[in-house]
Amino acid sequence: MRNRVRPDPDAIYKRAVPAGDTPARHWLRRLDAWWVNGAAYAVRSAVRGTAALLLPVDCVCCRRPDAPVCVRCARALRTACLHPRRVEHRAEALPLNQRNEPLPVVAAGAYDHELAAVILAYKNHQMPGLARILVPPLARAVKSAMDTLAAPGVPVVLVPVPTRLQARNRRGYFPVGLLLGGLRRARVLPGRIQVARLVRYRATRQFTSAQKGKGRRARGAVRNSMCTTGRRSLARLAAQGVQVLLVDDVLTTGSTLAEAQRALAEAGLPVCGAVVLAATPAPDEKRPVRSTR
Ligand SMILES: [Zn+2]
Repeated sequence: MRNRVRPDPDAIYKRAVPAGDTPARHWLRRLDAWWVNGAAYAVRSAVRGTAALLLPVDCVCCRRPDAPVCVRCARALRTACLHPRRVEHRAEALPLNQRNEPLPVVAAGAYDHELAAVILAYKNHQMPGLARILVPPLARAVKSAMDTLAAPGVPVVLVPVPTRLQARNRRGYFPVGLLLGGLRRARVLPGRIQVARLVRYRATRQFTSAQKGKGRRARGAVRNSMCTTGRRSLARLAAQGVQVLLVDDVLTTGSTLAEAQRALAEAGLPVCGAVVLAATPAPDEKRPVRSTR
C-alpha cells in the first residue's frame, strides 16, 4: 500500500479518504452512513453512558463529567493552538549561535488554560490517551518550524528531548515519544522528515560538591548530563547531511534543549531549531485572565 503524505497539518482532523472509486472508499462511505445512523448513535450513547457510570471520568480542564477532555475544552484548546509562535525570547538558557541569537523555538501555544491542564494530566496523571488531543497542535507547530526554521531541500530529523529514567519508570511511558509516534502514524509529516531518538540521559552522573546543594532543576541544567545514542543511525544521518529539530513538551528556561543541542553538536548533527507544545510566559509578560469553565 502506497504511503500517502498529506502536507496540510489540518488533515489530521479529517479521516483519510482514498482517491477514486476503490473498495476502501466504498467501505468508508458505508462506515460514514453507519456512523451517522440514528440507531448507531443511540447505541454509542448508551455504551458511553454505561462506561461513564462504571469508570467515572471528569474533564481535566473544567471537571465536567463523562469525558477526559469535554467538547468545549477541546475546542478551546484547538483555538488556542491555531497559530504557532516563536518563543525563544522567553527562555534565558537557550544556546546562542555565532550571531549571539538564541536557538529558535516554535511553540504550539502558551502554557496556560486548557493546554496546560491537558499537558499536566498527560504527563503526570497517567493519562497517555490524551496524546490524541495533543498531536494535532504539535503537528501544526512542526509544520510551522519546517516552513520557517529548516533549510529547504535538506532532510530533517525530529529528535525528542529525553526524560530521565526515573521519571520514565514512574510514568511507564515516554510522553514526547508517544506524541511523535502519533504524528508519524497520522502521516502529516512531509517526506523529508524522519523521527529518531538520538539523545539520552547518561546512566550515572556524579554531582560535584557545588551542585549538591542545588535543587533538582538546577542540577539537571548542568552540562554533560546527556549523550547521543545509536552510533549507526548517527553516522547514517550525518552522512545524509540532515538538520535536527528538537521536540519537547514544555519550554521553561531552555536548559534541557541546550543540553540536547550540545550532545548532538558533539556528534556532528546541526540543530536548526526546536518545537515545543507550550512555552511558559516570560517573567515580565502580562497574561490575559480567562476562565476555563
Ligand atoms: Zn472541559
